[in-house]
Amino acid sequence: MRMTDQRRTIARVIEDSTDHPDVEELHRRAAALDQRISLSTVYRTVNLFEEAGLVTKHDFKDGRARFELIPDEHHDHLIDIRSGRVIEFRNEEIEAIQEVIAKRLGYRLVDHRLELYAVPLADAKTARDPSEQ
Ligand SMILES: [Zn+2]
Repeated sequence: MRMTDQRRTIARVIEDSTDHPDVEELHRRAAALDQRISLSTVYRTVNLFEEAGLVTKHDFKDGRARFELIPDEHHDHLIDIRSGRVIEFRNEEIEAIQEVIAKRLGYRLVDHRLELYAVPLADAKTARDPSEQ
């Protein structure tokens, strides 16, 4: 892949992001560094990066594709459905049990995705059946 200045800027923006931004947000950040960068350039570039295996695309069920650099170490995500906040985590028990499940089904696990959709505990309490209180 040819690394143009604009692509390099977009790559740097993705690299510096820890919040799984969507294309519009990436465009805002990239355009702040180089105002010639258009939204369609960001679209094309993130798709190229994804095809090249540099970037991974997430669908956190809010209708927007989110992007992050392929991490050195695997992690999973918890999505706060009220605020849209995305929290990264890794749990060794979950990692291990997924391998066991695949093995029992006759497979060797090579990858997985796990997304937890959650509301903050304080909110969950108010949403609980009032008869429980
Ligand atoms: Zn992540």
